[in-house]
Amino acid sequence: MKLLENRTALITGASRGIGRAIALQFAKAGANIAFSDLAYDDNARNLEDELKAMGVKAKAYASDASSFEHADILIDNIMNDFGRIDVLVNNAGITRDNLLMRMSEMEWDLVIKVNLKSVFNLTKAVQKVMLKQRSGSIVNMSSVVGVEGNAGQSNYSASKAGMIGFTKSIAKEIGSRNIRCNAIAPGFIETEMTAKLNDDVRKVWIESIPLRRPGYPEDVANVALFLASDLSTYVTGQVISVCGGMLT
Ligand code: NAP
Repeated sequence: MKLLENRTALITGASRGIGRAIALQFAKAGANIAFSDLAYDDNARNLEDELKAMGVKAKAYASDASSFEHADILIDNIMNDFGRIDVLVNNAGITRDNLLMRMSEMEWDLVIKVNLKSVFNLTKAVQKVMLKQRSGSIVNMSSVVGVEGNAGQSNYSASKAGMIGFTKSIAKEIGSRNIRCNAIAPGFIETEMTAKLNDDVRKVWIESIPLRRPGYPEDVANVALFLASDLSTYVTGQVISVCGGMLT
């Protein structure tokens, strides 16, 4: 029996980057995959096809994770299509980096809404399903900068730190119902998000990593698989860093 056989996982922001790697890793472990992105575009279509070719049920949904209304509709649609939701990975996230003196109110509000409010939206919406099922695993994609802070990323760091407080609170609130909630704090992972950084910044980041290499989406997906599966049935309220030792 595969690790996630007969389970359904919802992953937000999965058509590229870390979310995509998680979807593929979960499918390899036997899970049926529902995933959401802002738009149902070529990336989403390609992933949907790739997942189906792996022999699992898969469906992409266009849904804005930062919208409270969208979250409720998304969960209802997935329940109609799949009948259950065992795992939620709150992965959708954005950056709008700037020094505080230049940061606009819009840059602050957007990052908090997409990165942090989305976690409230989706967790609240999926909670009723998981409470009925009396089981569930929620995995929130935080960041090392949510633990340590980072100059030029006060909005992003605040959103990721907020996710950690939320994760620990939810673990305490619904642990008695066999619903676990953990966070992953990735370090420097090679995706389109980090491709925006210039070479000097990349070099400084990589020199500060004990393992002396960037992380890959698959490195994060392996830990997400652990947290989603029964390998971690006694793990909740934790933040697991996947950062090549950066936070050590
Ligand atoms: P990415 O390559 O930029 O992908 C982000 C994904 O989120 C895309 O699929 C995007 O969908 C989706 N998304 C953005 N806004 C959304 C919204 N409002 N509703 C639904 N989906 C939305 O990012 P990544 O590097 O894979 O990062 C994934 C997560 O890991 C993020 O939460 C990020 O903060 C976190 N993280 C990344 C790193 C890193 O080094 N890469 C480090 C620490 C933490 P569209 O294609 O539709 O825009």
